[in-house]
Amino acid sequence: MLAGCKSSVPTFSGDMAFQFLEQQCAFGPRNPGSEGYAICKEYYLQKLGAVADTIFTQSFTLTETRTGETYSLSNIIARFQPNAERQILLGAHWDTRPWADRDPDIARRDEPILGANDGASGVAILMECAEIFYRHPPPIGVTIVLFDGEDLGREGDPESYAQGSKYFAEHLPISKPESAIILDMVGDTELNIPIERNSLKQNPQLVRKLWKIAEELKLPAFKQWLGPTIYDDHVPLWEKAGIPAVDIIDFRYPNRFTNYWHTHQDTPIHCSASSLAQVGDVIIHYLYDATQKK
Ligand SMILES: [Zn+2]
Repeated sequence: MLAGCKSSVPTFSGDMAFQFLEQQCAFGPRNPGSEGYAICKEYYLQKLGAVADTIFTQSFTLTETRTGETYSLSNIIARFQPNAERQILLGAHWDTRPWADRDPDIARRDEPILGANDGASGVAILMECAEIFYRHPPPIGVTIVLFDGEDLGREGDPESYAQGSKYFAEHLPISKPESAIILDMVGDTELNIPIERNSLKQNPQLVRKLWKIAEELKLPAFKQWLGPTIYDDHVPLWEKAGIPAVDIIDFRYPNRFTNYWHTHQDTPIHCSASSLAQVGDVIIHYLYDATQKK
């Protein structure tokens, strides 16, 4: 509980969020064109559709340059209090990488990853947030966007990633929110979230607020220092639409000695409910408490 914070801040359940992570993984890899992708899209529409004030998809096509394959992709957009004066966007990517190109086993590098952390973790937190918004309407308007096409990029070419957020920012289907918070790779059992550098440049006030909440709540995952610069869905939101966006991300999965990122080790056993809960707590406290203070 924050100093002076009323008990009106709802409780975020890490266990519920973890169930949402496991459910997405149970569908298998969710890379565009796969069976898991199609089933999972229906699952999001049904689950979020049951609790949101409005839900719709934003479709676009993308020709992926590694294989030349063209995909029909969809951002999934669920809104709560869409008529409120103040509006914020919460986003995460729902697609998973079609290739385990960092896997130690060279023979399996062309197979898609499960994406428990890289994909499912951020969405899982937003799904639990959506349940909370349904039971306790948030004090400001919230648009949850599940971005597609984040992880179809080529290494060394950052702008080939984050295609869903780029399309969203170039064809804004809602009025411009005051800010955005992106969640990516937030389920790691060894969660360490330093301040991402583009985020600090794009929205220093929001970075300070979020990391201060984490400090006051004594959440050990949030580190009060600068980490690497990362190109993620927050960058196109700022560059293409002027939405000052912050990325909450732990890029070292699980730590600087071992790497599960873009490998077949990106599975639920390397993620935890308590990690998801730390990030969820910060989001919920920000929305229900900090946005109410000047
Ligand atoms: Zn990725």
